[in-house]
Amino acid sequence: MKSLQQLVRPNIWKLSPYSSARDEYSGHEAHVFLDANENPYNSPYNRYPDPLQRELKAMIAPIKQVPAECIFLGNGSDEAIDLVYRVFCEPTHDNVVAIEPTYGMYKVCADINNVEYRPVLLDEHFMIKANKLLAACDKNTKVIWICSPNNPTGNNMPVEEIEQLLRSFQGIVVVDEAYSDFSTVPVFRKRLGEFPNLIVLNTMSKAWGCAAIRLGMAFASKEIISIFNKVKYPYNINLLTQQHAKEALGDKEQVEKWVGILLQERRSMIDSFKELAVCEKVYPTDANFFLAKMTDAKGIYNYLVEKGIIVRNRSRIKLCDNCLRITIGSKDENAQLLGALRVLK
Ligand SMILES: *Cc1c(COP(=O)(O)O)cnc(C)c1O
Repeated sequence: MKSLQQLVRPNIWKLSPYSSARDEYSGHEAHVFLDANENPYNSPYNRYPDPLQRELKAMIAPIKQVPAECIFLGNGSDEAIDLVYRVFCEPTHDNVVAIEPTYGMYKVCADINNVEYRPVLLDEHFMIKANKLLAACDKNTKVIWICSPNNPTGNNMPVEEIEQLLRSFQGIVVVDEAYSDFSTVPVFRKRLGEFPNLIVLNTMSKAWGCAAIRLGMAFASKEIISIFNKVKYPYNINLLTQQHAKEALGDKEQVEKWVGILLQERRSMIDSFKELAVCEKVYPTDANFFLAKMTDAKGIYNYLVEKGIIVRNRSRIKLCDNCLRITIGSKDENAQLLGALRVLK
């Protein structure tokens, strides 16, 4: 890997970050706070929240098995995705390489930041070859985006190919593990020590059932995390989110139960889909959704909308001709979807 100084944009490397009142004071027990122009009334909402979310990270560290200083928390993973561009990619000069099809935000953030985005098509089994991605890189490629399990295809990318990228590529490799709670393949977030150029993304929006609170995570070397911390908005995670996340993290067993139910439902949904007259193929999945090739994706999508059932029409996406992406819902929701599809010939 190149040195971090070679990879980080020069203006970011030099940046002296905003120093908030809550940054400057830390340590001593204090009980009089006259430093931040807050209103003394309306506790606890009158006080600025912890800019580095220390209590929350202390709870996340043992659950994710990542040291607290290697954790960045963002307003959804989307904040971390945008930060990767703002930290590493010089607009109109640098570029990034990504698998295709994949999660749409990598490209949207590239476009917003005016950074060239180079998609590399997966093969017909939705797999990658490291060599093909490396061949798309040049001296200005700063980042390679991998999503595993991948959205919208649902499958894990081969571990050996990701390892090869991490070893051969001189820049940053981001592995988005938003759906890893639904998969049994070993996760990359536990291998930060092995790969200094690795950034892993996680989120509370999927298995943890907290999409509304907007809490995403990036795991990386403490050097990369400290650069993220100086670029982010000072109070990017509000108090309500920090409080609710702590509550949720305190009940890990609940999440394990949900995941157990969803995996069982996934199995039976896939079996049922394979029996449908309007379903031609179900692709293998390691996530809480699956991709299904239908006889007429657009027609079926519109028919379901009429019935008040919304799935994701992915048929205009490369390699996903006539495909619907189906999220695993509650038993009742899944039964309603199947009921509506079984009457179609
Ligand atoms: C849903 C999803 C996320 C989550 O984004 P948040 O901003 O944390 O809600 C991240 N990555 C992928 C691939 C996703 O599908």
